Amino acid sequence: TAPAQKPEEVIKKYMEEVPVVPDEDCIICMERLASPSGYEVPAECSQSLQPNTVGKFTKCGHTFHMPCMLAMYNNGTKDGSLQCPSCKTIYGEKTGTQPKGNMDIYSIPQSLPGHPDCGTIQIIYNIPPGIQGPEHPNPGQPYTCRGFPRFCFLPDNDKGRKVLELLKVAWTRRLIFTVGTSSTTGEPDTVIWNEIHHKTEMMSNVSGHGYPDPNYLDNVLSELASQGVTEDCLKR
Ligand code: NAD
Ligand code: ZN
Ligand code: ZN
Repeated sequence: TAPAQKPEEVIKKYMEEVPVVPDEDCIICMERLASPSGYEVPAECSQSLQPNTVGKFTKCGHTFHMPCMLAMYNNGTKDGSLQCPSCKTIYGEKTGTQPKGNMDIYSIPQSLPGHPDCGTIQIIYNIPPGIQGPEHPNPGQPYTCRGFPRFCFLPDNDKGRKVLELLKVAWTRRLIFTVGTSSTTGEPDTVIWNEIHHKTEMMSNVSGHGYPDPNYLDNVLSELASQGVTEDCLKR
């Protein structure tokens, strides 16, 4: 992990102060941009940040109170990255809160339904139970792990192998799982999938998370992209 940056420095890296404030609302606090932020400026930033300082994101150009973005950042994982609340553009490298575990890759000669001309990549995720950290919903409390190891399947063709490489990046950035309440079982404080869909059935499709699914690889590529994991990550 990168050396910890001060939250205020992260904001100023990706937003520039606008001298002329647009006549719009800040969608974080719902106040006018010309009015003070609905969030308090922390004492340690009061030298350089006023309650009504407005910042503009460098790439997408959306504007917010800088104290509002700071409050949002301080409320998250504080990983040095920001995400524009309007258009979801990611600045820096987004990381998640996936607990410690293993991702293992195997090759299976058998084909998946819908992909008759290649073999199969099997991913096995294993995460043991543990204690929640400060990035989790209930720090200090235990989390459970249901249905592990979880087995996942990709076609072993060019696109499937590309998805695999991106899933490895997502795993390293702790984006595949998170700790929260399972929408399937209602159980709180448990390890759950996080926005990047996996196919957990190989030859059947009982859960709806199986094959055939002609759109799956494109869908998962766009889910990876919305977490900031794209082909560019493989070139570096
Ligand atoms: P969840 O129910 O909170 O849902 C989070 C996301 O995971 C949703 O997008 C949902 O569509 C997706 N999802 C739900 N069931 C899935 C499945 N079977 N395969 C792939 N994606 C699925 O997430 P969760 O609590 O992590 O998983 C749902 C349930 O599936 C849990 O009860 C888990 O134990 C079970 N599961 C079991 C295995 C197994 O190999 N035994 C594998 C995967 C999931
Ligand atoms: Zn605001
Ligand atoms: Zn934006």
